[in-house]
Amino acid sequence: MRSRGVKRVRITIRGIVQGVGFRPFIYRCAKRWGVSGYVTNTPEGVEIDAQGERLENFIEELKTAPPIHARIDALDTAELPPCERSGFEIRESQEGSSTAAIPQERAMCAACEAEFDDPNDRRYRYPFINCTDCGPRYTIMQIPPYDRVRTSMKHFAMCPECEAEYTDPSSRRYHAEPISCPKCGPRVRFLDPSGEEREGDPLQRAATMLKEGKIIALKGLGGFHLMCDATCDEAVGELRRRKRRAAKPLAVMFGSLEQLERSVRIGRTERELITGAIRPIVIADAREGGGVSSLVAPGIDRIGVLLPYTPLHALLFETIDFPLVATSANISDEPIIARYEEIVRRLGGVVDGILDHDRIIVNPLDDSVVQVAGEKTVMLRMGRGYAPHALPLSRPARKSILAVGAHQKSAVALAVGKNLILSPHIGDLGSIEADEYFERTVHTLKRFYRGKTDVMVHDPHPLYSSTRYAAEHAAHHYAVQHHYAHILTCMAEYGLTQKVLGFAFDGTGYGENGELWGGEVMIADVHTYERIGFIKPFALLGGDKAVREPRRIALSLLFERYSLEEVMGMQIPTTWAFLPHEIRQLHHMWSKKLNAPMSTSMGRLFDAVASLGGFVQHLDYEGQGGMIMERHADLSVDAPFAFEVNEGSIDPAAMIGEIVKLSSDPANKGVIAGRFLATVEAMIGRFADVHPYLPIVVGGGVFQNRALMERVYRRFADRPFFAQQRTPINDGGIALGQAWWGLHNS
Ligand SMILES: [Zn+2]
Ligand SMILES: [Zn+2]
Repeated sequence: MRSRGVKRVRITIRGIVQGVGFRPFIYRCAKRWGVSGYVTNTPEGVEIDAQGERLENFIEELKTAPPIHARIDALDTAELPPCERSGFEIRESQEGSSTAAIPQERAMCAACEAEFDDPNDRRYRYPFINCTDCGPRYTIMQIPPYDRVRTSMKHFAMCPECEAEYTDPSSRRYHAEPISCPKCGPRVRFLDPSGEEREGDPLQRAATMLKEGKIIALKGLGGFHLMCDATCDEAVGELRRRKRRAAKPLAVMFGSLEQLERSVRIGRTERELITGAIRPIVIADAREGGGVSSLVAPGIDRIGVLLPYTPLHALLFETIDFPLVATSANISDEPIIARYEEIVRRLGGVVDGILDHDRIIVNPLDDSVVQVAGEKTVMLRMGRGYAPHALPLSRPARKSILAVGAHQKSAVALAVGKNLILSPHIGDLGSIEADEYFERTVHTLKRFYRGKTDVMVHDPHPLYSSTRYAAEHAAHHYAVQHHYAHILTCMAEYGLTQKVLGFAFDGTGYGENGELWGGEVMIADVHTYERIGFIKPFALLGGDKAVREPRRIALSLLFERYSLEEVMGMQIPTTWAFLPHEIRQLHHMWSKKLNAPMSTSMGRLFDAVASLGGFVQHLDYEGQGGMIMERHADLSVDAPFAFEVNEGSIDPAAMIGEIVKLSSDPANKGVIAGRFLATVEAMIGRFADVHPYLPIVVGGGVFQNRALMERVYRRFADRPFFAQQRTPINDGGIALGQAWWGLHNS
């Protein structure tokens, strides 16, 4: 029946609107406001044909009260002539080229947990319970739009009860694509390390093994974890020995928040992240005597912690009352393993058993890792729950652009239509597995978004596999300097195009003329940059060896300031770490510039101070020096060391001199670390004061240092200051910056 006030509009909505219960939400709104018509998923998002007398109320509710995991980037309406009709329906999705944001994984929600705990519910203790608010998404998707037939759940035929829920718009499992139950869903099984299935209750077997101090692989949402008793030195030590991973910290999963808080201290923001809908790994302060083995994070006082995020994890903790190491199953920093066959083939000698299930992981996805600095999130690894990350563009990309990132912590980005997508964490390139996974990720993004790659953007480093990939696969490819790309990444996250003052501090990156950069100050916009500051170049004695041995970098900086005799006579941790003839040899190397490439790296300067201060002389992993120093830093110390800036060149020689005076006494460790962090802040401040009207942008792995990040947040509280929060601040974000450049320069 038509009446006077009836209007009809077509509403198109873009954003994260698929896989989050958006269509049933619209259905309920339509019923409430007497709206007739239909809603459907489209490649762009959702489209609603709506007719009624109270369309304003209807649209207002869409805008203001969407489902919790939805994100509306744009809502447009176009008037249509009213027609004769009644009722509101949800129509099948349209296939086609897609730019709708890809839905992301969510931890088990409270409603599902209540059913999971209810002995009368048909999904009581069901390891794959999920709904439109939680469960797998991207990891099971073959191609958008997100519907069951295009996920790995298509292999499981729904039973009549699940089908009834799936097709009932009033059910909270209406179109929950991974819906299943004990009758019709995936199955858990236990395998021995050779892949042979074992009889008996799989969870019981896994729990028994863990109690015995054994190591198991457990298949989660995006891949396998290696797990063992985190309180047991023997178990953790054995895992490290078998994985050949000496010291790099391992994440720990706790059975409950109470148990977690017995081992770490967390603030409000950390608690929200730990217990929230995503449940990433959060780096938190360890409590002394908190029960976790000291082998979990040797030498540092932080632990990456998380709570169970799938029902399968929750089941495991029903019979286990101690925390579990939960580290990605892979070899060193390669991509996470997602198939049991790969566990058998590559980690068969590491694990004692495998808790597997038969829901196929189409797109492997690591756990995300975050930390909190100044109540702000710092993304260290972007994976489950955050990736793929879709950044809405105000104008469509004229050409589709693929950015292939750097080398370590690889990730790729694709700009197509009105979206800029950053892929999940891939891992360090250079191995066959990682390079294959890199190519697979490129293909997945291209398939999901039907993106051609008209243009590719890459790092200038000639030896990166990503650089070679771009050269081999694109007719038009451009290099964007590594540290400029760090600044661009932050600009992309905040949509900045204007001139900024950028600080890009990291371990290393390819500079102009093949120099090794890493402590760069730039005035930059989306087109170009001017390098206005850098750490005065110093020699990396022995090249790559210096990266693993901070003592070599410290020695190099000592040679810059002191004679060989003076250095030989010093009684400080750096010289204690060498035999006298080694110091003479390295001096020869330094003076003759033999295998001693010059670097401007801030990360290496951190390493040098870590050696001088007696914190560490040999590194097991990148960034270890800074982390150990942070542990000991006296954060109440505010006086920076002296340094000079000559025509942009930041000379730390005076600082080295002051540290040498302090470092013979171990009691000064805290002061050295604290004053060094204050010095880095002062270096930033020196340039910031010269350019008071430019917004400040920071990026690069050095800003993973929480104490430094808190300092800069405080210092620039009163001026426009930008640091990434949603995308990785280390090389994992580089591709986004490369794509941001491509968007404005192609
Ligand atoms: Zn749920
Ligand atoms: Zn069922």
